[in-house]
Amino acid sequence: LAYYLAKMNGYTALKKALGMTSDAIIDEVKKSNLRGRGGAGFPTGMKWGFIPKQSTKPKYVVCNADESEPGTFKDRDLMRYTPHLLIEGMAIAGHAIGANAGYIYIRGEYTREAKLLWEAIEEAYAKGYLGKGIMGSAFNFDLTVHRGAGAYICGEETGLLNSLEGKRGEPRVKPPFPAQAGAFGGPTIVNNVETLTAIPYILNRGGEWFSKLGKLEKSGGTRLFCVSGHVKKPGLYELPAGGVTLRQLIYDYCDGMISDRPLKAVIPGGSSAPMLTADEIDVVLDIEPLMKIGSMLGSAAIMVIDDSVDMVKLIRRITQFYAHESCGQCTPCREGCRWMEEVIHRIEHGKGRKQDLQLLLDIADNIAGKTLCALGDAAAGPVISFVKKFRADFEARIRSEEHHAQVHH
Ligand code: SF4
Repeated sequence: LAYYLAKMNGYTALKKALGMTSDAIIDEVKKSNLRGRGGAGFPTGMKWGFIPKQSTKPKYVVCNADESEPGTFKDRDLMRYTPHLLIEGMAIAGHAIGANAGYIYIRGEYTREAKLLWEAIEEAYAKGYLGKGIMGSAFNFDLTVHRGAGAYICGEETGLLNSLEGKRGEPRVKPPFPAQAGAFGGPTIVNNVETLTAIPYILNRGGEWFSKLGKLEKSGGTRLFCVSGHVKKPGLYELPAGGVTLRQLIYDYCDGMISDRPLKAVIPGGSSAPMLTADEIDVVLDIEPLMKIGSMLGSAAIMVIDDSVDMVKLIRRITQFYAHESCGQCTPCREGCRWMEEVIHRIEHGKGRKQDLQLLLDIADNIAGKTLCALGDAAAGPVISFVKKFRADFEARIRSEEHHAQVHH
């Protein structure tokens, strides 16, 4: 806390926000062009603006700190090194929407970060940044950390809310959206850690300043890119939103491939993002440019893959993950993910048939867009992209097994 107060203008943004009206704060956030950093990229100011002002029900600010998308590790560092930034961001959000309570739903595996958050929260209470009459104002705000138990689906905002309420972590039917009926039936905003930690900067330096940090019209600020895989310098990179291409990130910032092996593929936005080939890395790293080429920026978790990787094994492992994490409510997701896993498993283990590739596309097509939550799309997208872009890897595996079978015969 001492460092945060002395070196990071700690809690000055909250002080400023307490002297502003709710509309003025939300306007500033709208001006900033801050978009959700969890994966969906929804404009944050607009999300806050959906909270019905007249509602008499208690309102809530919920921080999604589940960070369950494979490859993502940015929120962990934010909570580890700047927990007060998150606390301040949440208190400002609470004041903006008229909430007196907030929850940080943190991934169960992040035990160290959960402990750090609790300690920081205690410090904030002791100094009057949380609790009753914050900084001498009439604003009250209580903050609680809630630990998850290791389910991917609790990173989906309504699955998270159910889990927070003590129910099974199953996504809800929408509408109603959380802004109307979220935690405990009250109007709720659910924001990612990185999104909320941007709020104190926006309040202190202005929405326009933040917006200009981004290089594309719709995306303000900087983004944290989590780079892993076969690069010389993997890690967390903070860069302007829309300011670099994937090629620049890999070769200029991460010093290129770790060995002399060629780049084979890149997963640009967490394991649910459709794969890119080595020919597609001139894309600008932002939401729309990636969408245009059929993939997504998601949680900005970038996995770089060289040609030593068994692509069939890789997609089998990703598919196995989604099959395991499916909550089972929707038939296409519950059954389809398992079928895809089985078909890829048999290709991987020498039992593949020529028609299996078409079969995979058919199953994926029957999942995508036909389920309650985005897990269905998350499972189908990578499979479709693999079959289309790395078909030769599948075919080679199927052919070589057919060849063995003939020789054996
Ligand atoms: Fe559950 Fe899958 Fe349906 Fe999402 S898509 S609600 S994870 S069954």
